[in-house]
Amino acid sequence: MDVTVMKYRVQRKRLLQGLGLAYVLVLLSFYPWQWRAADFGGAVTEQAAETAGQTTDGQTAKDAGDTVPGQAGDDAGETVPGQAGEDAGEAVPGQAMEKPKVAITFDDGPNAKWTPILLDGLKERSVKATFFLIGVNIEKGDNAEIVRRMQEEGHLIGNHTYHHVEMTKVSDTAALNELAMTGELIQNITGEPVEYMRPPFGAWQKELEEKLHVIPVLWTVDPLDWKTEDTDKIVDRVVKDVEENDIILLHDCYESSVEAALQIIDRLTEQGYEFVTVDELLAD
Ligand SMILES: [Zn+2]
Repeated sequence: MDVTVMKYRVQRKRLLQGLGLAYVLVLLSFYPWQWRAADFGGAVTEQAAETAGQTTDGQTAKDAGDTVPGQAGDDAGETVPGQAGEDAGEAVPGQAMEKPKVAITFDDGPNAKWTPILLDGLKERSVKATFFLIGVNIEKGDNAEIVRRMQEEGHLIGNHTYHHVEMTKVSDTAALNELAMTGELIQNITGEPVEYMRPPFGAWQKELEEKLHVIPVLWTVDPLDWKTEDTDKIVDRVVKDVEENDIILLHDCYESSVEAALQIIDRLTEQGYEFVTVDELLAD
């Protein structure tokens, strides 16, 4: 065979191979990869939305609403708040990701009239709360039974001094005595040492921490329930202010507070919050 003819054939073969490859590439470029990408992308976005919706919940909604109203419509609107919660709820009901936590706490009890009603409501909703009890109130009537019930139903019980004293205004000895007396009363009922305390009026002396083995617990959301005794105001204030890991302060010695507490629980549960006792929040 002539060398020139062979070169020509080789070149022609290569040219055809090249054309074939180009043809395949053109075909591939028309293949609807973008549909598949959309499938994957969709799944990822949904998951991201789910994470956002569940972990930052109220906060995200507030931030989006406050800071980027226009943009939120486009960006956040599609991926984040209400819609995401619903989608996530429908898509993975059993396999829920971790919910934002919040603790509801009650001071100044036990109260013979309102605490049992509150406990009934908590039980119906399977919600665990934290109670900071006053020694003199534990000793009133059959209130020890209420304390026993708190324990049985899984609530966390803390110390709120014996006489509701402002601990910075009494001597260290008196302050320690206040805590010791109430701690003993509670332990005699529950059989367990009391690990947490809430100082009345939020007044706490740092030095006392070294002399005691209790952990002081303050609060982050205070609707001033004792002052207004107005259920709607208490509910609105808490629902508006609350964010993940907050500790809500209420008092179970007022009808309005007990009613508000149950409404708050229903509203925040609807928003995706999970109620835990304060030890769980402080442990994180
Ligand atoms: Zn108090």
